[in-house]
Amino acid sequence: MRSVSIFGATGSIGEQTFDLMRHQGGAATFRTVALTGGRNIARLAEMARELRAEVAVTAHDECLPALREALAGSGIEAAAGAQALIEAADRRADWIMSSIVGAAGLAPGFHALRHGTTLALANKESLVTAGPLLLAEAARHGARILPVDSEHSAIFQALVGEDLASVERIVLTASGGALRDWPVERLRLATLKDALAHPNWSMGQRITIDSASMFNKALEVIETREYFGVQPDQVEVIVHPESIIHSMVGYRDGGIMAHLGAADMRHAIGYALNWPQRSDLPVARLDFAALGQLTFRPADETRYPALRLAREVMAVRGLAGTAFNAAKEIALDHFIGGGIGFADMSGIVEDTLAALSSGGGLGNTPIHLDEVMQMDALARLEATRVAKALTTRRAG
Ligand code: NAD
Ligand code: MG
Repeated sequence: MRSVSIFGATGSIGEQTFDLMRHQGGAATFRTVALTGGRNIARLAEMARELRAEVAVTAHDECLPALREALAGSGIEAAAGAQALIEAADRRADWIMSSIVGAAGLAPGFHALRHGTTLALANKESLVTAGPLLLAEAARHGARILPVDSEHSAIFQALVGEDLASVERIVLTASGGALRDWPVERLRLATLKDALAHPNWSMGQRITIDSASMFNKALEVIETREYFGVQPDQVEVIVHPESIIHSMVGYRDGGIMAHLGAADMRHAIGYALNWPQRSDLPVARLDFAALGQLTFRPADETRYPALRLAREVMAVRGLAGTAFNAAKEIALDHFIGGGIGFADMSGIVEDTLAALSSGGGLGNTPIHLDEVMQMDALARLEATRVAKALTTRRAG
């Protein structure tokens, strides 16, 4: 029986992973080692009971009593906090879904690789903040990383049986997010509610806002460069409002391989769950006659400064991705908190990178995860300073 853990089980990706595991027989098919979540204790306990997990972990210490109570009599262990997440990753599982949101997902996944596990990686922040370290750790321990971001799963699938040396270009498709039809001069007025109205995909709150600002695509461009080892100028972005083509690989002979399907993350999750086999998935089938057409628009870097910043990050490499992601997370917190406007997010990230590039060691190549964590903390401090200054200016 295959052993499985889900980090971030109560989130959008975690729930869909759970859904597919249930579809494939649940506790009768999988031996569940660890499930982790945040403050939604009732749901975490319910999932742990259904899958008969060994341990359930909440990220928050103060939620431990509630988790213990919710699991009473089940025989399932309860634990809490960042260290407990690492310990859960040290309980070996054959397959682990990494679907915590943000840089918080890096350490558990990194640890899991030491046990030669197969890491299904939805947490794109891991590759953006510590790509080379993560891949080296996987190689050292004979572990495998399978991409779960829909674009990267599509690229991975389009590369099966091909030689990476024959790849000319990788084309990432972007839905354009909630604000894609807004005139560029109105974008800065977008509210949280506006940014959350995603036309195609149903996802967690943070990635939905990142879709509207294209920070999500910016992270994915860097993720592509890191995971597939291509050059930055080989990675293109095209806005494809229907989200039917999940991404494409162009080869040296001009031919293009694309992955198509309904806009449903269970394609990518299910592919990673069953890899190297394919299994029946409960996803909608495409009806091309009903679709009629697929359309494309350029991804304008003036409209989406995040894409321009991603190019700058790739040019520096080193710890620039770490700082970029951390600053983006802080800017996003401030936008969600209501202190700054939609267009301020890219300004905060840009100013943070500029501040750190003068003497901040942005270009240094990290050798240990600690260096990544230090840059992550430094960039958060700097971005918070920039964001607070902006909030004060706005208020005054
Ligand atoms: P979500 O917000 O719905 O869920 C996040 C999960 O992580 C929850 O279980 C939450 O409790 C947990 N969590 C949050 N903060 C934590 C912390 N500090 N420590 C430990 N656990 C914490 O997020 P999501 O939309 O499922 O996204 C998860 C990851 O997958 C992200 O990296 C996202 O970029 C990526 N991703 C998501 C989608 C999607 O369709 N939702 C698609 C592609 C990639
Ligand atoms: Mg994606």
